[in-house]
Amino acid sequence: MKKITITIDGFSSTGKSTVAKQLAKALGYVYVDSGAMYRAVTLYAMQHQIITKDSFDIDRLISELDNVKVSFTYNDDLGFAEVYLNGKNVENDIRTLEVSQNVSQVAEISEVRRMLVLQQQQMGKEKGVVMDGRDIGTVVFPDAELKFFMTASAETRAKRRYKELLERNEVVSYDDVLKNVESRDLIDSTREDSPLMKAEDAIEIDNSNLSLVAQFETLHELAQTIINQ
Ligand code: C5P
Repeated sequence: MKKITITIDGFSSTGKSTVAKQLAKALGYVYVDSGAMYRAVTLYAMQHQIITKDSFDIDRLISELDNVKVSFTYNDDLGFAEVYLNGKNVENDIRTLEVSQNVSQVAEISEVRRMLVLQQQQMGKEKGVVMDGRDIGTVVFPDAELKFFMTASAETRAKRRYKELLERNEVVSYDDVLKNVESRDLIDSTREDSPLMKAEDAIEIDNSNLSLVAQFETLHELAQTIINQ
């Protein structure tokens, strides 16, 4: 059967990864969480005091990029690939609010983007991949056969993210989470290099009032139609 490339871009916490994982599983495709890669580089910068509460040594991060190895290893129990930083599983460590508060500044750096985009293109070169992020349909795979752009109101997204963080036992306030979602959206969509935007040929899905099942079925049906063409 024909293999295609599926891209899912959109604002923070629009549930891209949930539906991307479901879709990859249903189609027998590889799921790649490109945001996890930017988060892993951010974690490296935080662990090495390159980024602190009040400073960010961009030149040092760029000069150390050769030391930052981001990779994925499939976890059978979870049913998706977890992200590793220099050989260590950091799937949990990259999901904190602190990493979320720094990641968009790291993702603005062209050198970081160049390194990760090349790796993402390599991972998708055989097709049969569902990749989510901010620039996947515009920059990483502009020729993808099926592109989605997910949206939902900032409040809906902040509520989802807040619930996730509480479930992980993080002590956070809803206001901080909302602020983070809004500030990441602003930085992500106004940065110079590969800003978040809807690809011309992407299908927009507003999932503010869509159940997970309905959302999955919509995307899955569209994917099947293209695969069977
Ligand atoms: O998808 P997630 O919210 O985990 O992504 C974290 C951050 O990584 C985003 O807010 C954005 O700054 C950056 N990112 C990006 N390009 C991608 C994926 C993520 O700039 N393709």
